[in-house]
Amino acid sequence: MEGYKLLLEERFTLVALNNNEFLVMPISDYLIPADKVAHVQIGNNAEHALLVLTKTGYSAIPVLDAKYKLQGLLGIGMITDAILGLERIEYERLSELKVDGIMQTDLPVIRTTDRFQKGLDLLINHTFLCVTEDDGTFAGILTRRVMLKQFKKYVYSAK
Ligand code: AMP
Repeated sequence: MEGYKLLLEERFTLVALNNNEFLVMPISDYLIPADKVAHVQIGNNAEHALLVLTKTGYSAIPVLDAKYKLQGLLGIGMITDAILGLERIEYERLSELKVDGIMQTDLPVIRTTDRFQKGLDLLINHTFLCVTEDDGTFAGILTRRVMLKQFKKYVYSAK
């Protein structure tokens, strides 16, 4: 009986989720806006990027060009990888390496006009997503933390 009640409760939550507009809400409602996001610019060297990453404590940050267009993503692991010599980490190379040559360019990007559901699907495999306007201008990021918070709020209120 108890199991049946739980199943029924679960069913109602799912029905509510399916019927709700929650999943089709625009991503723009959940963004951390561009002016609050730490980033580096094309042309910056790896030493500067490492400094920003270490000081902010973020695992990865967006790389933008001078026109604020998204160009890639840079994480500490990518920098360490780039200066890994055969027997030692070659820290002295940090100042000569440019972020352009190290960053990841193949990354999932969503648009401000995309729906919550697309973000939800992609955030299963990524801790955050870069969000752009239609012309590629960087608009901000959508983090798994923000998304989960919203999801939790919604699920609790749907019960
Ligand atoms: P969080 O959900 O706050 O733990 O953030 C997860 C990841 O998203 C961080 O490790 C960063 O890579 C990125 N991130 C979150 N907030 C910011 C921000 N304000 N600026 C740059 N990157 C961020």
